[in-house]
Amino acid sequence: MTSQSWRSLVNKKYQLSLRLFLSLNAASALFSVTNPLYSVRLLSIPLFAIFTLSIGLLIWHWKNKKRKINIPVVSAIFGLLWAWQITAKFSLLTHDQATYLVMALLTVLFIGSLAFVSNIKAFTLHSLPTFVVCLWLSNHDSWLRMAYSFALPMVAIGIHHVLQRRNDNFAQELLTRLLEERETLTDLTMVDPLTGLYNRRGLQTRLDNLPTVENGEHFVLLLDIDHFKAYNDHYGHMMGDQALIRVSAAIRDAVRSRDIVARFGGEEFMVLLTNISLENARLTAERIRQKVYDLKIPHMFNESVATNVTISIGIAIFEGEDVEAALEKADKALYEAKHMGRNNILYSEELQTT
Ligand code: GH3
Ligand code: MG
Ligand code: MG
Repeated sequence: MTSQSWRSLVNKKYQLSLRLFLSLNAASALFSVTNPLYSVRLLSIPLFAIFTLSIGLLIWHWKNKKRKINIPVVSAIFGLLWAWQITAKFSLLTHDQATYLVMALLTVLFIGSLAFVSNIKAFTLHSLPTFVVCLWLSNHDSWLRMAYSFALPMVAIGIHHVLQRRNDNFAQELLTRLLEERETLTDLTMVDPLTGLYNRRGLQTRLDNLPTVENGEHFVLLLDIDHFKAYNDHYGHMMGDQALIRVSAAIRDAVRSRDIVARFGGEEFMVLLTNISLENARLTAERIRQKVYDLKIPHMFNESVATNVTISIGIAIFEGEDVEAALEKADKALYEAKHMGRNNILYSEELQTT
């Protein structure tokens, strides 16, 4: 999105430059006809061409905003037309020819430096024909003046070009960094800060981009730490947090990297096993249960189960993108697993009958 707005900004700059160039050319052509300094009122072919071409292109551009006009080509054509116009008018003048040439050159440079302040190629193509013609028509002693008049804006535009490019690079780099930053922030909003697992938002994002079922099925596991309230009450909240961190890592370790693990609630977790057989889903659940057990986090108040932290797991099949239904079934199975004595794994009803 942001790179698009960058491109549209560049495009706007291009359009502004083109419109400015065409308008200035039309205005200069008009001025040239009515210029009070020179009595020769010449409506020449090049002047007529400059005027109609610039107005015509302005209208065409207005109507076809999406179509691009090749600016260097247009500037070269106008440059040649101006050179022609200056040559034609020069031959009709009887006095002050040198001043006329300097004025003509300055006018052309004025248009170019306003419209093509950051387009050195277009500026050169537009001004060069006039410069050459002015040099050719003027006598030797004013060559230096001509060269000076041409070189000064040329150098200015060259320097500006370099600075502009640096500014553009800087802005673009800034934009890239902002985009990266935004990506990191978006990632952070999807992760639970304590355990590093997905939170519900992250889970939803992963669910929205779930792979289609290809081999086997998708299964949902709901996991809940046994007697965790008692753990917190006796060992304290800090120790409780540490236990949550270690249990989370054990769950993550026990599944494949493509499986999705989320912290679902306080001490409840959800694992989504994708493209897997029922048997392998069961084996994975068993591996999780064992890994958590093997952490051997002391828990003297895990009544009648063990002397360390354990979890219970409910498994349900995840069909037809209906995660709510799958969770409900897994939750029921989990509830049963708790009732059956905890540190247990239980299938949802429909899986038990198959
Ligand atoms: P059961 O075996 O039936 O699941 O019993 P339980 O005590 O685990 O069940 P219950 O849902 O009543 O208790 C969950 C406890 O988990 C409550 C709270 O003390 C603890 N808990 C929830 N979130 C956090 C957390 O972020 N940090 C810590 N330290 N404890 C938490
Ligand atoms: Mg609970
Ligand atoms: Mg619990």
